[in-house]
Amino acid sequence: MEYTRSTDRLIAELNRLPGVGRKMARRIALHLLELSEEEAGRLAGLIIEVKKKTIHCGRCHNLTETDPCPTCTDEERDRGLLCVVEGPQDLAALEKTGVYRGLYHVLGGYLSPLEGIGPDELKVKELVGRLREGAFREVILGTNPTVEGEATALYLERILKEMEFSVSRLARGVPVGGELEYLDEVTLAGAIENRKKM
Ligand code: ZN
Repeated sequence: MEYTRSTDRLIAELNRLPGVGRKMARRIALHLLELSEEEAGRLAGLIIEVKKKTIHCGRCHNLTETDPCPTCTDEERDRGLLCVVEGPQDLAALEKTGVYRGLYHVLGGYLSPLEGIGPDELKVKELVGRLREGAFREVILGTNPTVEGEATALYLERILKEMEFSVSRLARGVPVGGELEYLDEVTLAGAIENRKKM
């Protein structure tokens, strides 16, 4: 036993969260202990409320409290454009730019044979179904520029091309504020390949 029995259990639970190591779990737990009973109750209640209210949209599979979600029912959006992303966090990041005004499809992860994640574990069938019945003219593959994200994009590209869809991929390039000499080769190579005519 490190602290008290319940504190140790809390630390163990926090430690299971993504990106939270043992040390961070301990820090959060000790911080939570300092909260007033009211603050702790609010936090605990919020976790339960979020779990109860949050569902996946039946169309785009993003997190939502209504089905279909506000994005899918937004009449201002371009319904001919579909951007495929891995998770809700990617959709949120793209939305924050305010540049993209089409619809989305959330896969729920990436392909990874090593982790046992195949197309059936993702919303691929649902994507094909939407494309078959929808009036989409272009599909943008917005998976992450990681090994798994690239593999997922290549897999989807093959399917979509067979369905004769126009497919594009998010460009990779130099980050704003980045200096060329500090970039890794993959990023720099991508920036050269994806250069834009001025
Ligand atoms: Zn939706």
